Amino acid sequence: MRGRPKAAPGTGSEKGMARIVMKFGGTSVADLDRIHNVARHVKREVEAGHEVAVVVSAMSGKTNELVGWVQGMPKATGADTPFYDAREYDAIVASGEQVTSGLLAIALQSMGINARSWQGWQIPIRTDSTHGAARIMEIEGAEIIRRMGEGQVAVVAGFQGIGPDNRIATLGRGGSDTSAVALAAALKADRCDIYTDVDGVYTTDPRIEPKARRLKKVAFEEMLEMASLGSKVLQVRSVELAMVFKVRTFVRSSFEDPDAPGMGDFDNPPGTLICDEEEVVEQEVVTGIAFAKDEAQISLRRLADRPGVSAAIFGPLAEAHINVDMIVQNISEDGSRTDMTFTVPTGDLDKALAVLGREKENVGFDVIQSEAGLVKVSVIGIGMRSHAGVAAQAFAALAGKGINIKAITTSEIKISILIDGAYGELAVRTLHSAYGLDKK
Ligand code: ADP
Ligand code: ASP
Ligand code: MG
Repeated sequence: MRGRPKAAPGTGSEKGMARIVMKFGGTSVADLDRIHNVARHVKREVEAGHEVAVVVSAMSGKTNELVGWVQGMPKATGADTPFYDAREYDAIVASGEQVTSGLLAIALQSMGINARSWQGWQIPIRTDSTHGAARIMEIEGAEIIRRMGEGQVAVVAGFQGIGPDNRIATLGRGGSDTSAVALAAALKADRCDIYTDVDGVYTTDPRIEPKARRLKKVAFEEMLEMASLGSKVLQVRSVELAMVFKVRTFVRSSFEDPDAPGMGDFDNPPGTLICDEEEVVEQEVVTGIAFAKDEAQISLRRLADRPGVSAAIFGPLAEAHINVDMIVQNISEDGSRTDMTFTVPTGDLDKALAVLGREKENVGFDVIQSEAGLVKVSVIGIGMRSHAGVAAQAFAALAGKGINIKAITTSEIKISILIDGAYGELAVRTLHSAYGLDKK
């Protein structure tokens, strides 16, 4: 993504002034009262003299409803066609954000604040051609910057842009986070505040473990792992952009009183700062526990142990756009046959089995076994790089609760463990306390 310089680089044109992007998620704009509350947060920053652009999600539940409508439509005729046209999917599911951007602009106007709504195509926010999961390529921020300079608040519909085919494109579920960070990068904003229904990033999802602790700072790399391993508090792509463009990103709550003391503190707002590793002073070995539900495991038994087998399996799966995650291959006992296990999202299991069924001769295996409804629990922390025994501690803790491990993968800063779905929440809580992350 390319950014564009703002008119006067740095922190606004007068002392103490800055440029801020504020993003509000679905629960924060769930009804008209909450939209008015959001407007009060915006008013606070405007009255402090800052230039403000706001990014909004659809009202909570709206995008799910829209997706449901699309899925309820009859399948297009023709053998291998998808059951809906991705361009029309985007036209439909992007509409939720159009509504909230207009409503927030009206709420702001009713408070005497100059505000105007913007759809992705109006700015424009240009994306690639991957409808349904598009990536932002460029944002032309000049007009918004000009208007912000005149005191107008830009209220931008999140989750959407315009593709090379001149049609609306959406950024994948949770994509408004990415809209906000990308806009902050393009406008060279001094800060990007992601307002949501929790007051920061926690050591694990506080809905699963009430003893989870709020983190003051999280390193980009850790947040990237947490998001991609299932913590949906930020969309993965938004963290990537924040890291690459060095966007100062805070996660904070929209439910606090907008005028409570400290809410407008520019340098140290309440919430969690996502930042460079060097800025995190109190680094623990383990920072957090993430989990992803609805994983499915596929095992190919007595597979020919020869060069090209993996390519023969994963090539056709990739062509079918199936996202393969954990891959475990056994060392062959006799040099001729082995076993291969990997995971895919449960929603893709049937498609994956159909693809593999077609490739049976070519790949050369005896049987396929599969199991849906599994959970992947992950332990994340930069401190793992320099500490031994972190994985052993996880295995011991899970064993202590009688939780069986189906597969394990590791990287420098995370360990992921696949287990039976029924034990998911217990495993999260067990690991959370095993690493001393519980509230003191
Ligand atoms: P929004 O609609 O504002 O984008 P989301 O529902 O997408 O909000 O993300 C916020 C939710 O993320 C929280 O309500 C929380 O349940 C969940 N979550 C998962 N992991 C974490 C975590 N580590 N810290 C904070 N919240 C988390
Ligand atoms: N409304 C979209 C979704 O529910 C985008 C977002 O909320 O970030 O996925
Ligand atoms: Mg979200």
